This record gives sequence, structure tokens and C-alpha cells, in this order.
Amino acid sequence: MIPMYDIIVIGAGVAGLTFAFKTSKYAEVLLLEARNRNELSKGTKVFPEHNRPFIKEVDWTNKEIFPRIHEIIRYLGTKEEGILQSNEFGSPFGNICYIEKLSEVLIKKIEAQSGQIKFNEKINKIIKYNDYIEVINNIGESYKTKLLALATGSHNFELQKSVGFDIPDTYTGIFSHMYGDEDKINVNLPIEYNFHINSKISTSGPFFICKGLSRIFLGFLGTKSETEQELYSKYERIIQNYKKIQPYIDGLKPDKPILTKISKHPIKSFSQNRIIILGEAAGLVTSFFYEGLIAGLASAELSAQTIRPLLENGSSFGISELKNYDSELNRIILQTYFKNDNASEYLFYNSPSQINLIFNTYAKLMHTNKKIRKYIWDAHITHHLEDYDTKRDRWVGEQLFKKLPTLSKLVLGIYLKPPTQ
Ligand SMILES: Cc1cc2nc3c(=O)[nH]c(=O)nc-3n(C[C@H](O)[C@H](O)[C@H](O)COP(=O)(O)OP(=O)(O)OC[C@H]3O[C@@H](n4cnc5c(N)ncnc54)[C@H](O)[C@@H]3O)c2cc1C
Repeated sequence: MIPMYDIIVIGAGVAGLTFAFKTSKYAEVLLLEARNRNELSKGTKVFPEHNRPFIKEVDWTNKEIFPRIHEIIRYLGTKEEGILQSNEFGSPFGNICYIEKLSEVLIKKIEAQSGQIKFNEKINKIIKYNDYIEVINNIGESYKTKLLALATGSHNFELQKSVGFDIPDTYTGIFSHMYGDEDKINVNLPIEYNFHINSKISTSGPFFICKGLSRIFLGFLGTKSETEQELYSKYERIIQNYKKIQPYIDGLKPDKPILTKISKHPIKSFSQNRIIILGEAAGLVTSFFYEGLIAGLASAELSAQTIRPLLENGSSFGISELKNYDSELNRIILQTYFKNDNASEYLFYNSPSQINLIFNTYAKLMHTNKKIRKYIWDAHITHHLEDYDTKRDRWVGEQLFKKLPTLSKLVLGIYLKPPTQ
């Protein structure tokens, strides 16, 4: 007989692992992951202080997971730069995180709570019944659950489509690690995060460099029309010839670049009868900075809170009972922090011919305007994203607009439509 789990989670990224960790405290949980345990995503990523309320149980002083404190950001335009130092206002922006180490710690915590994890389990099919859900892997084996959580990132939209969830807006990016001595890396990069906008590299997002201990993580997002081959060759050209970044990578040994998908613009609904969707699979990534960890963690925490009383009361996990998860996600991050990022996307990425000018103007403004620096610092360190004041972003947008030449304002007026969210 096929055993019945309280909860099955598909996908062991940060969203699925965090959700399995939180729910295995009170439920029988099975996590199914297509990859091997030692093949899970490796990344060196920005992990702002505002993530903390959603993952309090992880030790923020653990240097294996968080090898660096995040204190300095450089907003680098083609001509101008703006540097933000957290010590101008107080505490650091947060940490830099080694994702593979965070994943390993979460796996151990899940197992310690008797949650089960099976690797090399690619799920190909989901069948919905009234009183349970069946999932079937690529060799035809079945599992049954009262509630299913899809945390499949941008890897497998077929699965979510097959059960009626929408698909977010998806881009292809290319990234890689580079390795060297810690001392050398500190000389090359006296900052933890470099956010560079140059429309010749991309009109969809930044060229980023994030500093770990003896490695850096760098890459960019392609435009929708670029082929994979074009992305590889552009990446090589940047690494070999692009003068602006040569000092940062000087003497470091590159790994092979990897193509990846990344999604944004959240889908409309995050729950259905007996099924919820978490993290990037639902497009829960901010649309200007491409911050996805916050929403992966928040969706894990908010859904785990919603599910606990339902499970205890023998709920049938109907869509109306799961709705609290959708409304909490909307209240806490989508109507606040995500709105800010949508406004930035609207301002910076929508008018290809103006991107460099606008970003250079912004970088210069940040350099001279302390209030703007303070607002950015506040957004990183707040533990209350539900109170995030979107009026501040409007004010910053107005300051930026005032600095732009008249012709650019006219062009922007032609290109820009008000954001929908
Ligand atoms: C280059 C890059 C840099 C980034 N930098 C940052 C950053 O600095 N800060 C930040 O906050 N965010 C950053 N992000 C975004 C963030 O890392 C992601 O949004 C987040 O990690 C997504 O987590 P997830 O758990 O939703 O999905 P994923 O991590 O993609 O996990 C999904 C998992 O599901 C598994 N899976 C998929 N389909 C199946 C199936 N059918 N059966 C079984 N398993 C399946 C996959 O193998 C995978 O392990 C970055 C993203 C990229 C690409």
C-alpha cells in the first residue's frame, strides 16, 4: 500500500527546504528532489537583514553559511558610481550567503525532525483526487499526500501548468564562480556586492558581482531574444575584454559558466484545492534587483503558518482554507516591498535607449543624496516589510526625474506605461 503523507514538497531549493523544515516540526513530510544531494544549487548570494524574520532558526553567525557580513554595495553605471556603506547609518545590510551550505543545514534540520528527503526523484505527474493528491516519478512510482507544495523554481513549469497554476515571466541568465586567495579577492573587491547596469550587456537586469571568501559570483541576465550561444559568447567577451570589470576579476580562476532560468512577476494565485506553490515557481522574485530568497523564505513561513491549524483540525485543504496564505503573501511582501521593485523596473528597464543615462543619474544622485542612501539602507534592514513605505520610492523617483534632461523625460513619457501592480 502507498503510504499517505501529510505534506509532500517537490523541489529542494531554498523555498522547498525552508517549507519542509518548518512543517516537519508538526507534520509528516516527504521532500522529493530531482537532483542528487551533492548537485543542489551552489551560489554566493546577497542575504539582507530583512530575510531574518522568515528564517529565525538559522544561526546568522555561522560563517560556513554566511561567510561575510554585507556592508558595502556599489551601484555602478557606465559613467557614474554610487557607493552605499551601511556603517553610515548603523548595522550591516545583512550577510552574504553560500546557498549550498544553507541547504545542507536545512537538510540536516529536516532529517533531525524526522522529515524524509528523497533525492534523484524527478516528479513527472500529479493526479488530483477529492481527498488526496498522488504524485508519480519518472520511473512510475507513486506517493500520496493530503497537501502538495510545489517549490520547483523555474525548472519545470509543465508540472505546475498541469494542475492549473499560471506561469511567471521567465528569462535566461548566465553566471559563474571565480576563485582566488581571500587576500587577492579583498584587494580586487573592497565591496561585497557590485550592481552594474550597462544596456550593452543587458536591458533586462544587472551585471552583478557578489563577493564570498575565496570565490566571487558573477553574471547577468539575457534579453528575451538572445540565444544560449549568444549568452555564452557575450559572457566570454565580458570576462576577457570588458575594461570596467577587469580589476575585480584580475588573477582569479574562472569556473565554467552556467545557464539558468530566473522568473519574476508573481502569478495571481498561490493556492488551489490541496496544492500550494512557493518561491520562484510562482514568480516570487523582485523585478529590478532579482531578489528571490526573501520571497522563497516568506512563502515558506507564511504557508507553514496557514497550514498548521488546518492540519490539526483535519482540514480538507480547500482553496478557501488556504486563501490565508495568498492574502498574507500579498499583505507582507507583494503590496509593499515588491511594489517598490516594480516601480524601479518600470523606471530603469522599460526604455532601452535611456537605461544608461537613467542609471548613471541614479548612481550620481545616490552619491550626493544622503536621504536616498538612508532609504535603501532602511529597506535592507527592516524586519517589518509589511510596513514598508512605498511613498519613499515615489519621492526617490521624483528626485531622479528632476535630474534627467528634458529630452529623456519626453522619451521616457513615450516608453513608460504605469506599472500594473
Ligand atoms: C544567478 C542568480 C543570482 C541570484 N542572486 C540572488 C541574490 O543575491 N539574492 C537573492 O535574494 N536572490 C538571488 N537570486 C534569486 C534566488 O536565488 C532564487 O529566486 C531562489 O533561490 C529560488 O529558490 P526556489 O527554492 O524557489 O527555487 P530553486 O532554487 O530553483 O529550487 C527548485 C528545485 O526544484 C527541483 N525540481 C524542479 N522540478 C522538479 C521535479 N519535477 N521533480 C523534483 N524536483 C524538481 C530543482 O531541481 C530545484 O532543486 C539569484 C538567482 C540567480 C539565477
